[in-house]
Amino acid sequence: MSTYLLLCVVGKFETTEIALKNGIKVRGLTPEGYSASVKHFMQLASEAIEFYEDYFGVPYPLPKLDLVSVHAMEFRAMENWGAITFLSKVLLLDPETTPAELIQRNARSVAHEISHMWFGNLVTLKWWDDIWLNEGFARYLEHHVLDTLRPSFRSWDKYLQQVYQNAVEADWVLAKTHPVQITVPDPDSLSDVFDNISYAKGSVICRMIHAFVGDDDLFKKCLSTYIKKYSFKNTETRDLLNIIDELLAEAQHGAGIKCSEFILPWIQQPCFPVLRATRTGPKKYMLQQYCVSSNVDERAKKLLWPIQVNWMTNKGLTGSLILKERSKEFSLEDKVSEEEEVFVYFNHGMKGFYITIYDDAEFKKMAEHLGSFSEADRFGMLYTLTKTS
Ligand SMILES: [Zn+2]
Repeated sequence: MSTYLLLCVVGKFETTEIALKNGIKVRGLTPEGYSASVKHFMQLASEAIEFYEDYFGVPYPLPKLDLVSVHAMEFRAMENWGAITFLSKVLLLDPETTPAELIQRNARSVAHEISHMWFGNLVTLKWWDDIWLNEGFARYLEHHVLDTLRPSFRSWDKYLQQVYQNAVEADWVLAKTHPVQITVPDPDSLSDVFDNISYAKGSVICRMIHAFVGDDDLFKKCLSTYIKKYSFKNTETRDLLNIIDELLAEAQHGAGIKCSEFILPWIQQPCFPVLRATRTGPKKYMLQQYCVSSNVDERAKKLLWPIQVNWMTNKGLTGSLILKERSKEFSLEDKVSEEEEVFVYFNHGMKGFYITIYDDAEFKKMAEHLGSFSEADRFGMLYTLTKTS
């Protein structure tokens, strides 16, 4: 156990508990008279433990998990070794009278902290430079667990507003942001990295890794292999990427670029790109990338990312390419018949961390078809408009 995970709580608590099928106890520790209010999230915590045990293929490592209600602390919650402290206003509630949005937000905190029992506690970072690995994955996995256990929350539908948008806002100005992986010289500098770059952009990067791996089962196998290999050990970003590279090469028989090659520029460079799609012919576009801060910051002109461009046409044709260069021609001439009128929407599914800009005429054509777009793509179109107009 890492020293930062040691918890000692002194106070007068009322305790209530439920046992999982495998005998693990989930206990709620509340001020006297409040034990009924912790039961809602004790139930969710029990289900989340079983979810993660199955997802990682690694049992919860302790005989109990305490959910401890405290009145004041710096964060909403903190994952300790077998005990999570929550602000009372996060942990204690009456589901009959609490607004649904608040229940969902607090449920995400519960799911988030429990993921740390594996991602963070069982496998701990070597140092805080890689804090995104804890917080980015926890913010990503909290959506997975709630999507499965509480589908009515529609967690993935809200992901773009709750996480993606926060990442864009935090990373928008090169002079004010920092890379996801950052040197933390000493513990006094820690507060600088507990921000939306580590949490929200970290989460979006996990989503990009998932999209790059492609297959859900393979992504799950990568995380499971990582947790199994490094249980009770310390890691850094490279350890997870090496496992993904190996398993992906095995699955693809060595074809394609490595995940580490694709994702490291996103982790090690600040800011993010704009993708400009300019129509150059009936079925052709010129794709160009530049940093969102290029017009105000000279340093930005050198930045370049490998962009996974998932595209979709108005005819439902889809595909994917990696844009590693500053610019590249995109053609559908060999895929679409001569007389067919097409337009292409780039960043289909909003899985990539970039904003796409089109010519006005192109944008208008797409706007007419907005009703046929998925919720994520509609968000992408409208959000791009608000950020670029
Ligand atoms: Zn966390």
